[in-house]
Amino acid sequence: AEARFVANNPLSQAQHNLAVASLPGGNTRTLLHTAPFPITMQRGEGAHLWDVDGHKYVDLAGDLSAGLLGHSHPTVQRALHAALAETGLSLGATTPHERRHAALLSARFGLARVRFTTSGTEANLHALAAARRFTGKRGGVVFAGGYHGGVLRDGAALGGGAVVDGLPDNTVDKRDFVVVRRYNDLAMARRVIEAVAARGELAAVLVEAMQGAGGVIPGRSEFLLGVRAAARENGALFILDEVMTSRLAPGGLGAALGLSPDLVTLGKYLGGGLPFGAFGGREDVMAVYDPRLAGAMAHSGTFNNNTLAMCAGYAALKEAYTPEVCVSFNERGDRFREKLRDVARGTRLSITGRGSLIGLHFTEDGLEDIECAEDIKGKERPDLRDLFWFEMLEAGFWTTRRGFLALILETENEELDAFVEAVRDFLERHRQL
Ligand code: PMP
Repeated sequence: AEARFVANNPLSQAQHNLAVASLPGGNTRTLLHTAPFPITMQRGEGAHLWDVDGHKYVDLAGDLSAGLLGHSHPTVQRALHAALAETGLSLGATTPHERRHAALLSARFGLARVRFTTSGTEANLHALAAARRFTGKRGGVVFAGGYHGGVLRDGAALGGGAVVDGLPDNTVDKRDFVVVRRYNDLAMARRVIEAVAARGELAAVLVEAMQGAGGVIPGRSEFLLGVRAAARENGALFILDEVMTSRLAPGGLGAALGLSPDLVTLGKYLGGGLPFGAFGGREDVMAVYDPRLAGAMAHSGTFNNNTLAMCAGYAALKEAYTPEVCVSFNERGDRFREKLRDVARGTRLSITGRGSLIGLHFTEDGLEDIECAEDIKGKERPDLRDLFWFEMLEAGFWTTRRGFLALILETENEELDAFVEAVRDFLERHRQL
């Protein structure tokens, strides 16, 4: 399959060979690197992509969930054209556009106050900084398999919550974070939260309601409610990272599960497909950023209120991803996932996820229940995972090498059914592997 991949994609290979001259590894987003070289895409339209060698794909990766509205949604295009014609690019001043988008996000996601950033990573950093200032403590608890941005993944964060002096409030030192080894294990989470709090170090517990990058693993509601209770009992803030999961229910997955977090972080499609992040929640906590108050913390970012993301994000949420569309879209995702699950039953492929987000896992035993990243560790079949990726490309489906799918609003049901058949065919042909 790899030999066919090389033969079928000479122009992608040529692009890669040029790219390595100026980008380390030819790439500027590590996860998009795939051996022997990545496919270079030329353009996207609706829910389709075309690569430089002229192949057309059904895009099932959806830019790892940021591309919910696809590559050319008419609502977003209209908003961007209008913004270019009527407002101009970033104005270097406050604008009505940010106020309007903030009000819409507040109403939709139940946030008393909200602020913008240009990425989900920054949203998490600023939310944590707010929690630190508000509680006067430094430390945080996160979960293995959790992903909160490029500088806040779990693996590097181990170290036992050492307090580091001399850093400004909105710097995150990874040594301040303690990682709970098993997501969905409430007893373990409680022990860790209580231990860190007992040292007087706990500012916040940061968690996803469904781990995305960690394998598209839903959190059980008893677990999430229990973590919230443990955080509150120990004087810490409960921060819900909804950068990926806000698409799963009209008020976000946290609202669907009744979590009422202290702070929420957002991103991805809520900027209409432009660089975007936001964080918000309790008025008293967010007041640490109120410049009218003495001692307020600074929250900077040249492009925080850039007009294009403010206008595109507002239109995307107001006109395209209405609560009704959100519900029916995620129901479509549930039906699609059930079909995949039927096809995968009794094979080495396991299907996880919720609504429009789906995880595909190839393991030796074809695991039935996946509760946390550790359940999969050491049991993966990367050979099958890679073969699957190569063969889906040949069949005209753009998926992620790691097995993460994020549906696009404009994808046709027939295309989803065709993918289910391609998966069935793959599993039948390779049953002996
Ligand atoms: N949190 C979660 C749950 C995410 O999935 C991501 C992005 N994959 C981020 C934070 C970081 O967002 P960004 O890539 O915009 O910095």
